[in-house]
Amino acid sequence: MSYSFSVISVTSVVNSDNVYSQFTKMATLLEFRGVTKTYTKGLLSQSATVALDDVSLTIDDQAPTILTVAGESGSGKTTLAMLLLGFIEPSKGEILYKGKNITKLTGEERVAFRKEVQAVFQDPFAVFNPFYTVDHLLSVPIEKFQLAKSKKEARAKMDEALSAVGLRPEDVLGRFPHQLSGGQRQRINVARALLLKPRLLVADEPVSMVDASLRATILETLRKLNRDYGISILYITHDLTTAYHVANSIIVLYRGSVMEAGDVDAVIKNPKHPYTRLLIDSIPWPDINRRWGEDQLPAKEGDYGGTGNGCKFASRCPFVMDKCRQTPPPLFQLEPYRAASCYLYEESPVIAREKLSELLPV
Ligand code: ADP
Ligand code: MG
Repeated sequence: MSYSFSVISVTSVVNSDNVYSQFTKMATLLEFRGVTKTYTKGLLSQSATVALDDVSLTIDDQAPTILTVAGESGSGKTTLAMLLLGFIEPSKGEILYKGKNITKLTGEERVAFRKEVQAVFQDPFAVFNPFYTVDHLLSVPIEKFQLAKSKKEARAKMDEALSAVGLRPEDVLGRFPHQLSGGQRQRINVARALLLKPRLLVADEPVSMVDASLRATILETLRKLNRDYGISILYITHDLTTAYHVANSIIVLYRGSVMEAGDVDAVIKNPKHPYTRLLIDSIPWPDINRRWGEDQLPAKEGDYGGTGNGCKFASRCPFVMDKCRQTPPPLFQLEPYRAASCYLYEESPVIAREKLSELLPV
C-alpha cells in the first residue's frame, strides 16, 4: 500500500514553498473545502435539509485510489456526487478542480473537467435511449468531444473501451439496450465513461440495481480501471460488504456529516463509531466477529433526532451521554489512518475536519 503522493513529493523535491505549492496543485484533481449543501423546500417554507454538512476532501490525481462514501439512504451520498460533478452548487464552501473553483472555469477548463470527471449512476437503464443501439450510444461522446478523426478510429476506441470493461464488442455493438442484461448495460455505461480517459470515475450505487450474480464482475471492473488505467474511483454505496471488497479507504456519512473515516479494512473489521457498528450489524457478514447484537442498536426508522446542536446520531445511539446532545463531537484520530466523530474516543487527539484526506490511505 502506498500513501499520499504529496507527502512523498515534498520530501523528494525541494524545500522551496513555490515548488511545493505548484506540485500539490498539479497533484490535486478535486477538492471540497468546507462544503455544505442545504435544500430548502419551497420559497416560503422554513424547512431546510442539510444534506451535506461541512465536508472537506481532496482527490489526488497522482495516487489514484478507490474511496468509498458509505451511509444509509438519505445520508447525503448522491448530493456529494452531484456537487462534485458540478450539477448542483454548494450552499457554503468551495469545490475546486485543479485548484480552481468549478463555477469559475474557462470554456477550455470546463471541457477538460467534463472529460476528466465521469460518472456512472445507479440505474443502468435510465440513461439509455431505448431507440438507439450501443454503437450509437458510444459514438455520442466520441463526436461531442471529437475523440476520433475517422469512423475506423471511432470503432477502435469503442472496441478498446468495451474490452476494458470485459465485454466483447461483437456481443453488444448493434444491439438495443433492452437486448442486454443489467450487468452488460452497466458495463457499457462504464465503457462510455472510459472513452473520455477520465481521471476520476464517480460511481453512485452502480451495482444496487444489478443482479447479485453480476455485481462482483462489475466491481472487479472498477478495481481494474484503478489498477491498470490509474483512474481514481469514488465508489458510493449503502452496502458495506461491497465497499470492503472494492475500496482502499472509506468515509461514513450520517445525515451529511462524516462519522468515521479511514482505512477500509480497519473500519469495516473493527468499526469504532456506533453508527458504523449499526451499519455493519445490519448486514449478513460471515467474516466479522460481531460483538454487538442487533438488539443493542435498534434502528429507529425515520427518527432523525432533534434539531439540537449535538451529535446527529445521539437519538439513535445506545451510548449517548449528556455532552453528545450539546456539542457535536469533532473527529478524534484513533490511528494514523482512521478517525471517528464520537465522544467515546475523546481521549484521542482531535484532527481538524479539513484534514480528512490525510486519514485516507491510497
Ligand atoms: P443518499 O444518496 O445518501 O440517499 P441524498 O444526497 O440523495 O442521500 O439526500 C440527502 C438528503 O437531502 C435527504 O434528506 C434527501 O431527502 C434530501 N434531498 C436530496 N435531494 C433533494 C432535493 N433536490 N430537494 C430537497 N431535498 C433533497
Ligand atoms: Mg443516493
